[in-house]
Amino acid sequence: MKTAILWFRDDLRLADQPALMAALRAAETLIPLYIHDPRAAAPWVPGAASNWWLHHSLVALDADLRERGSRLVIARGDSADILARLCAAHNVGAVHALRRFEPALAACDRRVNERLAAAGVELRLHAGATLLPPEHMLKSDGTPFKVFTPFWRRLQERYAATPPLPAPNALPLPADAPPSLPLEALGLLPRIPWDRGFYNHWTPGERQAGRQLARFAQDALADYARARDVPASAGTSRLSPHLHFGELSPRQAWWTLAGGADAGALDARGAETWLRELAWREFARHVLHHFPHTSDAPMDPRFERFPWHDDAMRLAAWQSGQTGIPIVDAGMRELWHSGWMHNRVRMLVASLLTKNCRVDWRAGARWFWDTLVDADLANNSLGWQWTAGCGVDAAPYFRIFNPVLQGKKFDPQGEYVRRWVPELAALETRYLHQPWTAPASVLAAHGITLGRTYPHPIVDLAASRAEALAIYKNMGTEFHSAPRNS
Ligand code: FAD
Repeated sequence: MKTAILWFRDDLRLADQPALMAALRAAETLIPLYIHDPRAAAPWVPGAASNWWLHHSLVALDADLRERGSRLVIARGDSADILARLCAAHNVGAVHALRRFEPALAACDRRVNERLAAAGVELRLHAGATLLPPEHMLKSDGTPFKVFTPFWRRLQERYAATPPLPAPNALPLPADAPPSLPLEALGLLPRIPWDRGFYNHWTPGERQAGRQLARFAQDALADYARARDVPASAGTSRLSPHLHFGELSPRQAWWTLAGGADAGALDARGAETWLRELAWREFARHVLHHFPHTSDAPMDPRFERFPWHDDAMRLAAWQSGQTGIPIVDAGMRELWHSGWMHNRVRMLVASLLTKNCRVDWRAGARWFWDTLVDADLANNSLGWQWTAGCGVDAAPYFRIFNPVLQGKKFDPQGEYVRRWVPELAALETRYLHQPWTAPASVLAAHGITLGRTYPHPIVDLAASRAEALAIYKNMGTEFHSAPRNS
């Protein structure tokens, strides 16, 4: 009997799984394998919130495999060692997986490939984590895109939507399939129960990803272009952790939200704005693939010399949602409580940390890495570098978000702030985004004492903005203000 290994990594699904389909075509029996090898990802070893998601996603994957007569084999240790051992013991001819783009994980795959090739086993990496492989998305001069808009145009020209592959009905497991470690042995769940809130917000797994996609398509897509900026509303898809763990493929998402075979309905249904966001995910992978240093170093080398403040107190206040700036604190508390934060608020909290407090973007990226259930090296690095002004297609240096004005614009009734910063909930809306402007009698009437029940702002927004602008000007970053098209 010919046996293949399907090596699951960040592609925890059975539908639209090109590696699975290829393995089934090539072999009579299949060993579905997950290897817990966090060191392979160093220095970006998955954080606590990601581990929470992973645990539950593996439970769901195992259940889906069992429905098809198979089961998940979980192993722990060095990927190359484990694969080499299993291939020899079970007479495996090929290992199938989806290609990954994180630099350390791509390097791990190269090591595995060498090791297996020496034993006469093939590692076959299939496309499926992106809409198009990064090599197919170069500029006409053969160099990678560094600006999103032309990348998006090219993607629309090149990408021909095709229907996703169905999940197979049966998965033949070899009679001598190896035993699995119990999932609990991986220790992915927290020992102290900080994750209680997560259960109210999320159900990991492929099935829920499909439900969430369908619900978003039906209930929220039409209004997405407007509602996506309102953090109090459920206006965005919340598919990011499902996409990160590959419980949903970008092709499935595109196919469904572009209207499937009926793609002519695209504009009318307001899907284009959403597909453009999905293209940012694609762009982030493109950037990380072509510029692998950008998870740890600024794309713009002048930022190597940027005078960051090593300010542990401000960083700690930011992390714990105690900056004294309500919309920022609301976002940081939403993150801690639910493992997710609304995109607009991500930009605001990142701008406050990197531009007003001038704390290194890498400190913020690390915190997000540990606390987000959708922590994703490509998207996170791009988002932080974009906001800090040092990345590809970065925000212009003079765009320093004013969190008070942003709060008033995108949370006009203060619903979002009231939800996450309950100590300010009773305050009149006109003071809610800047409680330090409220008369003492108003604060007292609501039991608020700044510096005691809610912090004073950790930074003077106007003064810190002026300082940052002066530094950027001296660095000669004026060119960011000119539109660039290629
Ligand atoms: P929707 O608005 O429904 O968008 C659909 C999908 O498009 C998302 O699920 C995501 O896969 C993709 N997407 C949307 N916006 C972006 C973007 N700006 N860049 C790349 N892809 C995008 N996203 C992550 O998935 N993981 C991260 O670690 C991450 N870190 C970020 C850090 C900062 C500082 C910033 C500003 C943004 C970050 N983002 C990250 C991007 C974005 O905030 C999230 O993808 C989005 O909020 C997820 O919510 P949603 O699924 O409801 O998004």
